[in-house]
Amino acid sequence: MAPTGADLIVTGDVFTADAARRWTEAVAVLGDRIVAVGTEREVRERITGSPPVLSGACVVPGFQDAHVHAAFAGRILRNVNLDDLGTKDAYLERIGAFARAHPELPWIVGGGWLNVVFGTDGPRREDLDAVVADRPVFLMNTDTHAAWVNSEALARGGRTAAWPDPWDGYAVRDPDGSPTGCLQEGAAYTFRSEVVPRDGVEDWAEAIRVAQRELHALGITGWQDAWVEPDLLRAYRAVDDAGELTARVVTALWWDRHRGPEQIDDLVGARSWGTGGNVHASTVKIMLDGCPESCTASMLDPYEAPFGQAHDRGIQFVEAEALREAVVRLDALGFPVHQHALGDRAVRSALDAVEAARAANGPNDLRHHVAHLQLPEPSDVPRLRPLGVVANLQPYWAQPDPMTVTMTEPRIGARASRLYPIGDLRRSGAVLCFGSDWPVSTADPFAEIEVAVTRRGVGEPEDAPTLDASQAIDLPVALAAFTRGSAYVNHDDDAGTIEEGRRADLAILDRNPFGGTTSEIARTQVLATVAGGRIVFERG
Ligand SMILES: [Zn+2]
Repeated sequence: MAPTGADLIVTGDVFTADAARRWTEAVAVLGDRIVAVGTEREVRERITGSPPVLSGACVVPGFQDAHVHAAFAGRILRNVNLDDLGTKDAYLERIGAFARAHPELPWIVGGGWLNVVFGTDGPRREDLDAVVADRPVFLMNTDTHAAWVNSEALARGGRTAAWPDPWDGYAVRDPDGSPTGCLQEGAAYTFRSEVVPRDGVEDWAEAIRVAQRELHALGITGWQDAWVEPDLLRAYRAVDDAGELTARVVTALWWDRHRGPEQIDDLVGARSWGTGGNVHASTVKIMLDGCPESCTASMLDPYEAPFGQAHDRGIQFVEAEALREAVVRLDALGFPVHQHALGDRAVRSALDAVEAARAANGPNDLRHHVAHLQLPEPSDVPRLRPLGVVANLQPYWAQPDPMTVTMTEPRIGARASRLYPIGDLRRSGAVLCFGSDWPVSTADPFAEIEVAVTRRGVGEPEDAPTLDASQAIDLPVALAAFTRGSAYVNHDDDAGTIEEGRRADLAILDRNPFGGTTSEIARTQVLATVAGGRIVFERG
């Protein structure tokens, strides 16, 4: 092996995530590349000079979050962020304090409230009115499928008893028809796009910078932003042009369900003007349904406790026929398609659409993926592998938390026994990739990985309740899903493993997560993060 210079040496128990899942001791970095991997002695013998050394207990490839709303999360962090709170009183105190501290803001926006705090009826406008009466308030919930608004906001939007629900969502209403202040799905999105003032490109750029700092601190070096419209794409381009985007980002271009195939020309255009540097505007996101806890996930059979007969099998935002046409055309144009599907009917339509694309266009390497896969019908699980569809999973949700137990299970009844079949997907041979859906839930890969391995809440003892422990996967598989699996779906074949010649994306850890019990995995902290050979985060 020829000697080489190096800018940096990283040492620790090195989990390479390569095909053989090899462990070793040291990595040398030159420029943006890994130039040597091996035992400390092997690496020291290869390199010339004495570059600085970063040491940790363990080193893993930089994580890639395959489904995250980084910019939305950054925007919430800059506004009202309820993410770390869990009671109505705490929410109202923070919202009121934020409004008082920002008398200059014409609207109070933000998010992060939890459905379980309010139960199935959702939050009410009067509570917000009591803390902000003079200005409109618009707050998305943590899963970003519903909004909580005050009376002033409803008045600005003309959302009175006479206002009809849109086809793709609904306002929760009092018996007299007046909206209560909780807007679900399309009712929330339409309100956001039509009534709430739009953020400018510079607002979005700052949200991206804030989010990147948070994600780098968690060892994340690349991600797929799962909902990107033109202003946000412009902001990604601006941050990258300024040399400030140190992560590699795939932007999933939003498929507008209110339009048809005529939008494809715009998507082709955005791919072209939006791609460059660290931004890859390569993918199209199609959102097929909502969530079972609000009866908006698209199901083959009726809900046990539907939210009115109109939605007894949920809502499918893009019907099977239109979806097939869209996916066949996007596939022919070389777009990987990122389909959001939770309910069994949505998952089936997603797979049928890819099957139609295969039949029409033949095989390719686009790595289409279906995100969430909360309740696939069991016979659809083995269809992913032969279709080359990657399972884009959010493993943190696969635990019996209060939302699952008190809200989801009563809606779906016996079907709750097949929530998040990650183990079956793995056994079927499908490629797995992991994402957080942050700000929906934590962006910390180790918290997510612990739940994937235990199917329990983080840090809970071994006898605590699980969400079907037979669907657990082991730690090397989970780590590989978050690194090489996510890099695969992001078409980033230059990263995802620690091998010579690859881009130097590394997370240096304070402990070896393989060293303790499974309920300690989430205690792992990132000491430093290297992205493209640059140290982009260092603790303390
Ligand atoms: Zn999402």
